Amino acid sequence: MQQLSNEQLITIAKNYGTPLYVYHAATITKQYQKLKSAFEKSDVVFFYACKALTNINILKHIKSLGANIDCSSINEVKLALHAGFEPSRVLYTSNGIAFEEIEEAQGLGVHINIDSLSNLEKFGQRFGHAYPVGIRLRPNILAGGNLKISTGHDKSKFGIPVEQIEKVVALVNQYNIFIQGLHIHTGSEIKDVDVFVKGIEVLFDLIPRFRDLEFIDLGGGFKVPYKAGDAETDMQLLAEKVKEAFDNHPHDKHLQIWFEPGKFLVSESGYLVAQVNVMKENAAAIFVGIDTGFNHLIRPMFYDSYHKISNISNPGGEERKYAVVGNICETDTFAWDRKLNEVHEGDYLVFHNAGAYGFEMSSNFNSRYKPAEVLVKEDGEAVLIRKRDVFEDLLRNQVVVI
Ligand SMILES: *Cc1c(COP(=O)(O)O)cnc(C)c1O
Repeated sequence: MQQLSNEQLITIAKNYGTPLYVYHAATITKQYQKLKSAFEKSDVVFFYACKALTNINILKHIKSLGANIDCSSINEVKLALHAGFEPSRVLYTSNGIAFEEIEEAQGLGVHINIDSLSNLEKFGQRFGHAYPVGIRLRPNILAGGNLKISTGHDKSKFGIPVEQIEKVVALVNQYNIFIQGLHIHTGSEIKDVDVFVKGIEVLFDLIPRFRDLEFIDLGGGFKVPYKAGDAETDMQLLAEKVKEAFDNHPHDKHLQIWFEPGKFLVSESGYLVAQVNVMKENAAAIFVGIDTGFNHLIRPMFYDSYHKISNISNPGGEERKYAVVGNICETDTFAWDRKLNEVHEGDYLVFHNAGAYGFEMSSNFNSRYKPAEVLVKEDGEAVLIRKRDVFEDLLRNQVVVI
């Protein structure tokens, strides 16, 4: 699975210092091609869910592949436009936002998915049939790797619950709203393709209620493998099942299929490289203390995600069990009882699958700097795409009053 060699990663780490995020463009390309080729027989459009990783160079690379882009905030919409995406290729899937942001997105000419009755009503009052819009529904399906990353179940805040469909239809009729699409996003790390089929069935029942429909948006959430033996969402199987469902659907209208993959496109492309500061041994464990923490990679602490870790400085070393911990004054355990090739102070450790929700969720907690980011381009050249913070960044927006 590792696409960059240990030697390449060590050279890059020596050049740019650690902790450091490194992304491999060719892996993103490979993942996109996997999606494209699996779905080549269907009318499918992929919108990269950019909240996974928004560095402008990554956005431009993904644009160059021909993908569209899905945004979770108005600022992501602006970043997407800044990266050169045409408004018609930008989708804003909103969630709990102020109506002003929807108006702003409308002004920018992008696609919008609305996820509440109240914003739908305001949209109808303001735009009537003049601007097409999608609605985000909550299908009441429990799916995803962890409850914190499940979004389609019956206690989730996301979307308009399908049982309120009559209220949706009433608003649509009252204001003659142009409902262009129906959207669901059930969660992240969904390996069971039947979850998507179930979602399609829920949406298909609703198709006759909306005469202007042009697309069905099935969201993202494809699973990626984190360790040997882990499953990836079976794209071929998913593509077959989706095609079958759409071919057999009872409504004669042609509907385009939209997906919003985030993690699937960028997870595997990313590495977080850290260096070992201190080794500490006590009765409980041998601690490997590294020069990063949950300020740079919060996923293991936030929702128990597993990241494979390799000691790239000593790949042939004897395996021992370690606790890999950060340097933050909070408990920030990356891994417990983890087998690594023998570790010494100064070694470089690499976290795999760090492309999605890694840098993007980083912070300046403990007044530490956010890491630098490096992109290994398709031609193999490693280039800096974000500078490491400097001291002034910590004070940048503070107002000194005393
Ligand atoms: C986060 C998100 C996605 C992407 O989820 P992944 O698990 O990264 O594929 C897609 N659609 C919406 C609306 C999202 O919020």
